Amino acid sequence: MADIELQGVTKRFGDLVAVSQVDLAIEAGEVVCLLGPSGCGKTTTLRMVAGLETVTAGEVLLGGRRVNDLSTRERNVAMAFQFYALYPNLTVRENLAFPLHAEKMVAAEIERRVKDVAGILQLSDVLERRPGQLAEGEKQRVAVGRSIIRDPTCFLFDEPLSRLDVQLRETMRGQIKEVLEGLNKATVIVTHDQLEALTMADRIAVMRDGVIEQVASPHEIFTRPANLFVAGFIGTPQMNLLPATVVGPDGGGMRFRTGRQEITLAVDPAVAAMPKDSAVTLGIRPRGFDLASEAGPDTIAAQTDLIEPMGAETLAHLLDDGRDLRVVYDRRVRLNEGETVHLRFRAGQTHVFDGGERRVGA
Ligand code: ATP
Repeated sequence: MADIELQGVTKRFGDLVAVSQVDLAIEAGEVVCLLGPSGCGKTTTLRMVAGLETVTAGEVLLGGRRVNDLSTRERNVAMAFQFYALYPNLTVRENLAFPLHAEKMVAAEIERRVKDVAGILQLSDVLERRPGQLAEGEKQRVAVGRSIIRDPTCFLFDEPLSRLDVQLRETMRGQIKEVLEGLNKATVIVTHDQLEALTMADRIAVMRDGVIEQVASPHEIFTRPANLFVAGFIGTPQMNLLPATVVGPDGGGMRFRTGRQEITLAVDPAVAAMPKDSAVTLGIRPRGFDLASEAGPDTIAAQTDLIEPMGAETLAHLLDDGRDLRVVYDRRVRLNEGETVHLRFRAGQTHVFDGGERRVGA
């Protein structure tokens, strides 16, 4: 049985459908990130699980029990909008114990839980300090501790790391993931930061316009995006998406026309079965190309426009008939601006999307 289950959950604000027919089941111990652009319905979905927003249609189940009509308090969820707000005048111990006092828990039980949580989060040595005497990372851990100490049914986090600087975010991502893994509860994290989702989630639910476009492991989302939206949304620099048409089988592969050029690619049987003249989109990540020394049936040509060193790698923007192609390659390779480059699409790394924007294969 899933800890959290959404069945056909819909939320309307007047005429606006903020969340549409969402189905999602999250098991104990699993971390699911809701990821998507601003306004896609992530926070509204989370708030419906928490009971902070009513459901227009569908069912919300926690631990197998329908909770549509229960208050936030009755649902016993832990909700943290940002891991931050600590009481400055209270010690770490008092900050951690605060939610338990609110529940009128007996002192010995409070003491035991504070000790446990401080142990998990490595805060045992700073229990008597006040927030002003803590490093940023410690403050964050206290805030995490405050949200997990009540032993809730599940954890709901909205942009938990958004206020932190880049470096602290990086360490916190790993730490939070580790803490959550040890707690064996379902967790939902709302984020618009794909790196956060890719590193913290067991599964990512990518949302657009109130709809879940794909739910899968970070690896699956990255290597087999279900449609054009997910393909373009996940991965930096962004995947190249080239409108093309199917020319037909060519040797063991399939020939495509894109712009004024043609290219033959080794493809899955599903792609090989596509009829001639089908309109498709070829999706290839900037790291999916090899730079070929000369033109061939499996290359297209483009002119180097802008070159951006990124450290170990270089990002080049190439122009193919006015289209911008992003290519990332080893920094030791030298390209000059204006140079013609032959791009070989690596086998198995070109995704083919049909006219309905669904991924057919690679
Ligand atoms: P962000 O990343 O910007 O927080 P989000 O994906 O979390 O975005 P939501 O906050 O869930 O998106 O909002 C989804 C849609 O519902 C948006 O169009 C938003 O304007 C609308 N919306 C949210 N809350 C309300 C409300 N209380 N009344 C009316 N419209 C709302």
